[in-house]
Amino acid sequence: MERMIDKFYKSLAKGKIYGVRCRKCGYFSFPPKAGCAACGAHKMEWKAISGEGKLLFFSSGNLPPMKFAKYHPYAYGVIELKEGPCFFTQIEGLDVSSVEAIERQNASLPMKVKAKVKKMAGMNIVVFRKA
Ligand SMILES: [Zn+2]
Repeated sequence: MERMIDKFYKSLAKGKIYGVRCRKCGYFSFPPKAGCAACGAHKMEWKAISGEGKLLFFSSGNLPPMKFAKYHPYAYGVIELKEGPCFFTQIEGLDVSSVEAIERQNASLPMKVKAKVKKMAGMNIVVFRKA
């Protein structure tokens, strides 16, 4: 069986973003995981995400991983996908030039966002921007 993470990144390279859904209880996981976090079953099926979600809060990535350092500063926050799961990722199109700007924009959240695949540091990653 192809490793989940390999399959995930291969589909990102084609611009497709997948999560997995539990065949037993319907719980949706993103990024894909081998087991269901809700019921523990290991019967997951691949399912493309809608790409729609809400930005709950964000800050600037002050301590980015080394390979992303050259893109600093960027907005980094928590997205709640329409399918349910929440996760941390990068958000484009926000002003992270000052603490005041970050606070002001956070005060008007949640905001609708849409996923896209972006090539950064030689990797395809999932980022979000204002819908
Ligand atoms: Zn389940």
